[in-house]
Amino acid sequence: MKNIIIFGAPGSGKGTYSAEIASRYGMGHISTGDVLRAEIKEGTELGRIAQGYIDNGQLIPDELMIDILANKYDSMPAGQGVIFDGFPRTIAQAEALKKMLAERGHDLGMMIELIVPEDVLMFRLLRRAGLEGRADDNEETIRKRFAVYHAQTEPLSRWFAEEGIRNTFDWDICKTKEGMLEAIFKEIEKQNA
Ligand code: AMP
Repeated sequence: MKNIIIFGAPGSGKGTYSAEIASRYGMGHISTGDVLRAEIKEGTELGRIAQGYIDNGQLIPDELMIDILANKYDSMPAGQGVIFDGFPRTIAQAEALKKMLAERGHDLGMMIELIVPEDVLMFRLLRRAGLEGRADDNEETIRKRFAVYHAQTEPLSRWFAEEGIRNTFDWDICKTKEGMLEAIFKEIEKQNA
């Protein structure tokens, strides 16, 4: 399977769709947010550094994230393809990912962009706050995360388009999780045929 980069705003469903894709195709799944939250829970040095950024809705510095990602990638089973969920979030991370994969004889594969209106994102994130109790799912931090997304992450969409690997899936067109998944699976199968 080709590698897959899942891209979209906070609350766009990256984690949910990644899990569905990983189980359907037996792929590896790296969520950088989950990696950081696990470090925080274990009370590691990395977790201590990450917490300040996460609680503020800010991104962890690129150099640190790139190291974490490369270590995690090298720990995944080879040959099954990996889903990158929440990485890259900056152009520097994207360039570093491309280089890291090239050094291993691999490539970026395909990018899947989830396009979801901001009122739907806010509704989902506030609902998740009640269900999962994530400290960064409060309205003030969510607004900061949206601002960071627009300023630092959204410009990457164009970077992927220029790489020729962007595939967009629009909530307003698909309308349901099942509709989104069906369109995504179809595209993945087409590109791996
Ligand atoms: P997520 O679970 O993907 O929404 O990530 C939660 C938080 O973890 C983000 O708001 C960032 O503070 C941090 N984070 C996760 N992935 C990255 C990344 N690739 N670069 C920088 N910070 C990240």
